[in-house]
Amino acid sequence: MKKTPKLIDDLMTIAQKRQVEAPLIQEIHKLSPSYQQVAFPDWTYSSDLIQTDAGAVVDGQVLCQDLLAGARTFGLRVKNMKVSLDSISDHEITVKEDNESYDTVVLASGAWLPKLLTDHGFQVDIRPQKGQLAVIQTDWDTSQIPLIMPEGEGDIIPHLDGKIYIGATHEDDQGYDLSTNPSQLTDILSTAYALVPALAQFPVSELKVGTRAYASDYAPFYGPVPNQTNLFVASGLGSSGLTTGPLIGREIARMINKETTALDPNDYPVGNYITRV
Ligand SMILES: Cc1cc2nc3c(=O)[nH]c(=O)nc-3n(C[C@H](O)[C@H](O)[C@H](O)COP(=O)(O)OP(=O)(O)OC[C@H]3O[C@@H](n4cnc5c(N)ncnc54)[C@H](O)[C@@H]3O)c2cc1C
Repeated sequence: MKKTPKLIDDLMTIAQKRQVEAPLIQEIHKLSPSYQQVAFPDWTYSSDLIQTDAGAVVDGQVLCQDLLAGARTFGLRVKNMKVSLDSISDHEITVKEDNESYDTVVLASGAWLPKLLTDHGFQVDIRPQKGQLAVIQTDWDTSQIPLIMPEGEGDIIPHLDGKIYIGATHEDDQGYDLSTNPSQLTDILSTAYALVPALAQFPVSELKVGTRAYASDYAPFYGPVPNQTNLFVASGLGSSGLTTGPLIGREIARMINKETTALDPNDYPVGNYITRV
């Protein structure tokens, strides 16, 4: 959704250009209010919007569990522990808590990357941002409801079992705090209720909260730390990491295995974000 017809046309042009290189974007339509009503009868909106078949709903928690289960089938040992690095040299890196050494280490620690590296003389351009989502439990068949992206923060995301997720907030002043605070979701929920009034009859059954990692230019980065070819990092995935994370993981695996990467790593230069103090 966009605020004016011109912005809708501009977005349509951008989407059509991207479609050339991204065939997953299948169809793009401008949808008038009467067609919107057919697609979602509880919907109340009086302007055109853009509809696409592209996209999927990914549950981050389930994705993580599936990745770990998949990793185990390849013989990986998974250790659930908070770790820190003891020593870093060119041929091995020692992890303090399990007292083991590794020839290559990947730090995929999101917003907590600075905590792992600052003690070793690195400065890291990463800050935390708190995000909260509200879960509304409906008795609807949510497989029939489109995912809606209004202007602003409050996406309306149909999930399984009648659940609809609304959010998320972008809170820059809360550090690593993971407590829930419903007052931060008031505006987002009001927007959702205005667009889908029938939602207001159902309870908010749960609040979800997480911490995003942002670099000062909002770009992600990944690859080896400068002058340390056996220590890899990935961070700065911001609000797109469920989408870009799997791709970045595959790129790092290829770098470690000295295989050709799909993307040019120079476009995501770690040295711009991690420097020796
Ligand atoms: C509310 C919310 C909504 C979002 N919505 C979307 C969306 O719609 N689409 C999208 O693509 N992305 C979305 N994101 C962003 C996405 O979740 C992140 O970009 C992604 O999770 C980043 O992945 P990551 O692996 O880099 O970091 P994380 O997922 O943060 O994982 C880092 C892990 O490292 C662990 N860790 C840190 N330090 C240590 C240590 N010392 N020892 C051991 N473990 C450690 C942490 O506990 C954490 O589990 C959203 C995020 C939030 C918070």
